[in-house]
Amino acid sequence: MIRRRCLERPAYVKSVIKQLKGVHPRNCNICGYQGNFRAFGHPPRYDALCPSCHSLERHRLLFSWLQANNDLVTQADTLHFAPEPCLASILSCRAKTYLTADLVFGRANIILNIEQIDLPAGSLDLVICSHILEHVDDKLALAELYRVLRPGGIAVLMFPVIEGWISTYENEEVTTPKGRDLHFGQMDHVRYFGRDVRDRITAAGFTLEEFTATEPAAHRHGLMRGEKVFIGKKMILNAPGPVNRRSDR
Ligand SMILES: [Zn+2]
Repeated sequence: MIRRRCLERPAYVKSVIKQLKGVHPRNCNICGYQGNFRAFGHPPRYDALCPSCHSLERHRLLFSWLQANNDLVTQADTLHFAPEPCLASILSCRAKTYLTADLVFGRANIILNIEQIDLPAGSLDLVICSHILEHVDDKLALAELYRVLRPGGIAVLMFPVIEGWISTYENEEVTTPKGRDLHFGQMDHVRYFGRDVRDRITAAGFTLEEFTATEPAAHRHGLMRGEKVFIGKKMILNAPGPVNRRSDR
């Protein structure tokens, strides 16, 4: 048995290494590249990274939604938090106006704290916020996103969500990077959302729609099957406010 395992393991390692360079040919819906994608992450996700525009699965899924809602984008005063270069280069040309923001200097047009957005209330039509809410106080952030949107405005939200969990997992006793990596999957994450994340979004005042890709797009573009784009819409001006919402400035 031990001898067999010793013989099998090099073969397994060899197959992993081989697949890091791509398993199936894919088509990038963002840049049009066709061919093998690269692996990304630890443990590696095969066929995740487009070698041309460096998009990942979630970027290509988000772009699918943006493509399907192109008319909305072209008429939108848009704010893109933590902008992914592969999307920013396209959105900067398509959106009516396009502003990028990040907490770190040099990564975007302006520095903004999503928990305390220094922009007027009702000043935007579209906010893109991908893989940020799991890093921050999501209640404050969602309230701020709601505040800066105009009635009818849309917040496009993506984050890791464990659909098998009823409740979001947070733990105040987990305070170290190593602990956060163990409990929340990454050293700078502060929670794993469960499916009650929908309640958190609607509690901020949004109505909610969800978008996921089906076949053949999922295999063609190298998407994560079942991954969601959450679309929060601000329906009514002066709707009842969420807990912790800041007064309009
Ligand atoms: Zn690409």
